[in-house]
Amino acid sequence: MSKENVPQTIPQVLEHFKELADEPEIIQKVRDQLPTHFFVDDQEVRHHAWCSHCGEWVYLDKSRHQAVVSCPNCETEGNIIHTWRGYKHLSDKILMYVYGKSTKSPADTITARAIYMEIQWYQEDRQGVVNGLPWDVEPYAAVDSYYVFVYGQGAAQARNIYKCSADWADCEELLLNKSIAPRFGRYMNAMYGYNANMKLIVDIDSVDEAVQGTPFQYVWDEVGGSFTDRGNDGAYVRLFDTTAKHPFAVEMLAKMGSPTRDWLYKLTEGGRTAGGLLNWKGKTMNKVLKYPLRKEEKYWLRIVGAIRTPADILFDTWQWLRKIGETNITLPEIERYKMRRADLYKAREFVNLYRLTKYLARQQEKHQAHTITLDLYADYIDDCRALEIDLSKKSNLLPKDLTAAHVTLRHEIEQRRELQQEEERRRQSRKALRAAGSKNQLYKKLRPKILRKYAFQADGMMIYVPKKLEELINEGIAMHSCVGGYVERVAAGATIVVFIRSQENPKERIGTMEISRDGSYIVQARAKYNRDLSPEADAFVRKFKKAKIDNTGRKTA
Ligand SMILES: [Zn+2]
Repeated sequence: MSKENVPQTIPQVLEHFKELADEPEIIQKVRDQLPTHFFVDDQEVRHHAWCSHCGEWVYLDKSRHQAVVSCPNCETEGNIIHTWRGYKHLSDKILMYVYGKSTKSPADTITARAIYMEIQWYQEDRQGVVNGLPWDVEPYAAVDSYYVFVYGQGAAQARNIYKCSADWADCEELLLNKSIAPRFGRYMNAMYGYNANMKLIVDIDSVDEAVQGTPFQYVWDEVGGSFTDRGNDGAYVRLFDTTAKHPFAVEMLAKMGSPTRDWLYKLTEGGRTAGGLLNWKGKTMNKVLKYPLRKEEKYWLRIVGAIRTPADILFDTWQWLRKIGETNITLPEIERYKMRRADLYKAREFVNLYRLTKYLARQQEKHQAHTITLDLYADYIDDCRALEIDLSKKSNLLPKDLTAAHVTLRHEIEQRRELQQEEERRRQSRKALRAAGSKNQLYKKLRPKILRKYAFQADGMMIYVPKKLEELINEGIAMHSCVGGYVERVAAGATIVVFIRSQENPKERIGTMEISRDGSYIVQARAKYNRDLSPEADAFVRKFKKAKIDNTGRKTA
């Protein structure tokens, strides 16, 4: 590739442009994009305002400070500024990309400039004397960066070392950049991503005009229509940069169909590389995509429109299949069955991938109500392996009804897990029972005193003092409470636990009660699932408290 027309020095970049100062219509175009204000300077004549857009004095039907109104002369919308309320910090800034034809080689070269403009509406000198009213203020305009795109050869960018600002207007100093980088980021607020006082835009009309009659037009005709709403954030400069360097590949992606066009958007929008999936320098379709497309694949790309699979993933899978010599599985099948490399890799251990694809197609045809995808099959295979199902049998490997088989296995795995959990619970409680049993010697010494002190019956209910600590574990399981965890503290005499039972049938559990170690108060009394006691049981506990806690408690302690 000859690069002889790509500028190598800053003066060579500038050769493609006129001086900005000599293009008042461009300066005006940028200025037109600045926000509009209506300045009212006389408190006595509040409806009389100066429009910053058309520069005319107009009569407004509203007069509130900051109210949003339309100019009766130029119809632009803006806000009203009462100058006496202070507008010291009112300033507007914009960075606008304006495209154009090269003044040097317009046939195959387009250009762009990122133009910076700033207006500080309040002007005063060092003594603080106001020396300019809004209608006298001139905007500050400067070129932030220059771009030259030479079709088939490459691109160059000359940019300011710093970002432009009216405050240090003399600092403009250009630097030649080998790789094109969009400049919006430079002007964004580092913390919040965007800057409320700063407008960042691309002049789309200027792109349309610039590419007219140049070879860039072919790409722009394909992508321009839907690129406009995605093209900010530097996507345009990256698109034209890539087009200048690799016109064939870009044009091919732009024209081949919606999926590859989407890919192109994604690449230029995010400024990413294609991760090695594309050979940009390729001069044929097969070279760019690394493998040949089948006729039906080309047709499908052209007509398919929007697809679910991101194009890079689609082609990643496709290239991998071609690489392992699988040439029969096509792009539409990859899309239809959501084929991903990892799932294919897994399935490949057990079944020929082309045979699997045909199988998925038959399944989809037979069971229209379900969406058959490869991940469903990969899931099924995982379940088979977990359940040690013999995959060498065809009826297992490719079941008659994949969805149903998948559901059955899911269910089985679920049941297995529940059984395992149950077994684990049992193991834990056996362990707890053993631990509790080992502490019974301690508890034996405490129990007679507890029994003497708290034995109580009323209204068909009774206080049951556990004989062994294991009973706490069983109470916890039966009542679905955490009393099983109290074994250590009960054995150590740190707290007292008794059960509320039926007098007639002492095995019938009504509630669990904890009493403080000194017997001075009831810590808690709860029913099953840690719920409140029934009203009857609650009445029983109140009677118990009166008889055994309030009357004896501290007095005897
Ligand atoms: Zn106006």
